[in-house]
Amino acid sequence: MLPIVALVGRPNVGKSTLFNRLLRKSRSITHDMPGVTRDRIYGECRMGEVRFDLIDTGGMVLESEATPELSKDFEDEIFEQAQEAITEAHAIIFVVDGKEGLTPLDRQAAEYVRRSGKPIFMLVNKIDGSEFEAELTAEFHSMGLDFMPVSAAHGYNLTDVRKRVRKFVVGLDVPSEEDDGIERGLRLTMLGRPNAGKSSIINAVIGKDRLIVSDVAGTTRDSIDVTFEKKDKRYTFVDTAGVRRRANIQDHLEKISVIRALKNAKRSDVTILTIDITLGVGRQDKRLIEFLAKEKVPFIVVVNKADLVPRKETNMALEAFRRELRIIPHVPIVMTSAHKGVGIGKLLPLAEAMRKECEIRIGTGILNRSLQAVLERQQPPVVKRRRPKFFYVTQADEEIPTFVFFCNDHTLVKQSYTRYLENQFRKMLGINTAPINIVFRSSH
Ligand code: GDP
Ligand code: GDP
Repeated sequence: MLPIVALVGRPNVGKSTLFNRLLRKSRSITHDMPGVTRDRIYGECRMGEVRFDLIDTGGMVLESEATPELSKDFEDEIFEQAQEAITEAHAIIFVVDGKEGLTPLDRQAAEYVRRSGKPIFMLVNKIDGSEFEAELTAEFHSMGLDFMPVSAAHGYNLTDVRKRVRKFVVGLDVPSEEDDGIERGLRLTMLGRPNAGKSSIINAVIGKDRLIVSDVAGTTRDSIDVTFEKKDKRYTFVDTAGVRRRANIQDHLEKISVIRALKNAKRSDVTILTIDITLGVGRQDKRLIEFLAKEKVPFIVVVNKADLVPRKETNMALEAFRRELRIIPHVPIVMTSAHKGVGIGKLLPLAEAMRKECEIRIGTGILNRSLQAVLERQQPPVVKRRRPKFFYVTQADEEIPTFVFFCNDHTLVKQSYTRYLENQFRKMLGINTAPINIVFRSSH
């Protein structure tokens, strides 16, 4: 398990800008709802050999500050998100705005974060050059927190900040979950709207088999993992408390926590997204699907309550779901009825196969022979009067199969050709359901 670090602070201090800087990504952030949905709020940071997960939060909006453009509900959601991030995190990077100076809200937010008892490192952002440093940071000493000045937007002090953050992360005491010597078996996460049938599916899958643990105190107060054995193999449903808790709160429909979802997805091998066939793919489901696809999470879509739809209509329904998943055609769709036991038996074998595919390791010889075959079958199209040339391909050491193609100029490789490469490699290597990563490197 990688250390998790959360970026916390009031809105507009520059958390997202910092987030992108620390991830070395400068993609634009789309706020399709102000302050709530961002392009990406969770990412893996690499600083040399040190790796950790970074969570960006919308910001702490506390009682005293109303944000005019946000409704109370959104404020609550943002706050809840920040709270959840603080709970999940092993450490906090607390961000303040040096230009605006220390505000009462900063103090309140800091107080809140301090109560978590987790290590805190403060960044005074928007110090856009050394000439502003002394004056703008002076008042922040009174916070009693270790801090550094930085300019996320202009890059001032960023190299030192990265070094310091790296040291901060190395010093963290992160409990390792996997080192208990017990074969941990396959871990599964259930996602989906309340009442889609997640709990019913878990019960149907476990059936009469031996339940080993039903209540393990996790790191977080309400995380309950359910471990059981089937045909001498061990399986765990991760965080079933989340499954049940959400189920009771109808209005969580709109508040599904991406942070929680991703955290659980990352703790497990395979994620199962359950959708109620009578309701179809809702807005939240769409968001989750997009998100799981972008994060390359191995997942299965389960279309549950098939017993409520006449048999002859199920095919049509299945096609509709396929269309929703057209950008990720490798994701398996399983039709189930938890009540009638239909389709349930397919879930564990499918998840096992998916994990196996994720663990696949392929030698450079086979990869390069495959590349030759693929190139012979269809050459990459000429772009700007140049044809991309591929030299060789290797598999990178990543959690999901990642293939790095070395070529003369990666900007010449068209999207359609990338798709072709992916499809061909999937076929040749037998990676049918797992996500894969195709990466290009230019070497002249
Ligand atoms: P968040 O709400 O805390 O995530 O803040 P954002 O990252 O969205 O930044 C809020 C605003 O502050 C944006 O307009 C940024 O361009 C600006 N900003 C962020 N970092 C800096 C900085 O280092 N210097 C200056 N001058 N502006 C910054
Ligand atoms: P969760 O909130 O996703 O955990 O959903 P539950 O497992 O609690 O199920 C919600 C409701 O749907 C309950 O009333 C279940 O009895 C019902 N349900 C679950 N699976 C099925 C199914 O396959 N068919 C039918 N007809 N109802 C189901």
